[in-house]
Amino acid sequence: MNKSAVGRCLSQGVDKLRRDDPLLFDLLESEHRRQSESLSLVASSGGTDSSVLAVTGASIVNATAEGYPGKRYHAGCRYVDQVEDLAIERAKQVFGAQYVNVQPHCASFANHSVMQSLLQPGETILGMALDQGGHLTHGAAVNLSGKLFKVHTYGLDDQGMIDYWQLGELAHAHQPRLIVCGTTSYTRLIDFNRIRAIAEEVDAYVLADVTHIAGLVAAGLHPSPIDAAHFTTTCTFKQLYGPRGGLIMMGRDADMLSDDGTQTLSQRIQSAVFPLMQGSPEVHTIAAKARALGRLLDPAFRELAQRIRVNADALAQALIRRDYEMVGGGTDNHIVLFRVPDGLTGAAAERALEFCDVLVNKNKVPGDTRGATTTSGVRLGSNTVSLRGMGPSQMERCAELIDTVLTHTRLLPDGGVTLPDPVREQVTASVRDLCRRFPLPYDADLPTSMGTSAR
Ligand SMILES: *Cc1c(COP(=O)(O)O)cnc(C)c1O
Repeated sequence: MNKSAVGRCLSQGVDKLRRDDPLLFDLLESEHRRQSESLSLVASSGGTDSSVLAVTGASIVNATAEGYPGKRYHAGCRYVDQVEDLAIERAKQVFGAQYVNVQPHCASFANHSVMQSLLQPGETILGMALDQGGHLTHGAAVNLSGKLFKVHTYGLDDQGMIDYWQLGELAHAHQPRLIVCGTTSYTRLIDFNRIRAIAEEVDAYVLADVTHIAGLVAAGLHPSPIDAAHFTTTCTFKQLYGPRGGLIMMGRDADMLSDDGTQTLSQRIQSAVFPLMQGSPEVHTIAAKARALGRLLDPAFRELAQRIRVNADALAQALIRRDYEMVGGGTDNHIVLFRVPDGLTGAAAERALEFCDVLVNKNKVPGDTRGATTTSGVRLGSNTVSLRGMGPSQMERCAELIDTVLTHTRLLPDGGVTLPDPVREQVTASVRDLCRRFPLPYDADLPTSMGTSAR
């Protein structure tokens, strides 16, 4: 049936794995089933379709390709060169970028590479505080970025909005070489132009890490930082629905000379990714990035991005109607962040919801007195439910299920949680039903053998 060499190899591999390593095979099957049957409202979750999965399993993984297309340290790269060029061209087209590096193994490495291309150890960066929504790689003390550089942090005002006034004050006071923006839990639009204007005043570079909102940026539903920031980074597995990995992109500043005047900023990035930060690229992942980026160019992606926005609004409104307090008052992107009811913690809410296969994550809220492992908030996101084809009426249902669970959850003195069995059973059954009616693409692609009925 399968005339493709790659396809034959993939299906033979699955058979061989089942036969030779049933322990691992069963774990993979269980994990697939877990994904199929759980309602992921984790803001950082995405979901690959079966074509992206197939690419990550293809034999191209065996090609070693240190260097860049046309400038490799190994022979045998004629096809991987074309694959990498394809990924670059598609990323340029999707984001309107002048320069793209598709090799970073993850967004974290993309951020480190940008910093390494610009900064000497001990120089100053200004990033968003971790507990206000910044990422570890934006200068957190436990991260290499916090160990190598002198870090100052800005945060949110008491309305839950980025405090641009504070950002400006800190920039003038500390004269950072780099200002980092982009967050993990911010619910409102980011004003990249305003941050660039502040950076111009103090002669700093801007790094916009759009990992969370990259899909909305690609679809034109969030202002783009490509020309506003000097550097834009993203991972490819959250809102871009691709493989694990990162991208570094540049717009109008790609050909700007760096401080020493010998190289452009984009040339600096090339050598920062390889050989400074990384070794050989993951060519199978670059191929899967090309596939995911190709899907972003399909007009269907804009519809998905619009659904992400509509669903996030519907989810926020449904929770507001049930008296939950939203950080930022609502959402402009896919993230919904709310304060848990009195008597609960974010961690307790996360655990109780997981009893019913509703997946969320605990998150700090502005002014939170609890630590990062407990928190007073819960973060939700609409990426995966939108990918499943759910709409506003299903978001209403999700809010109802969340409210039912949180209303019946009791926090025990030892930090454990209880949820009455009938509630757990009823909510779990509703989750199963939703997931069956709205299967993930990799299940929906298949004939009905997965047991996924039509909607
Ligand atoms: C998730 C995230 C990252 C990390 O991405 P990895 O690819 O896992 O390294 C970086 N920055 C932001 C803002 C994120 O949300």
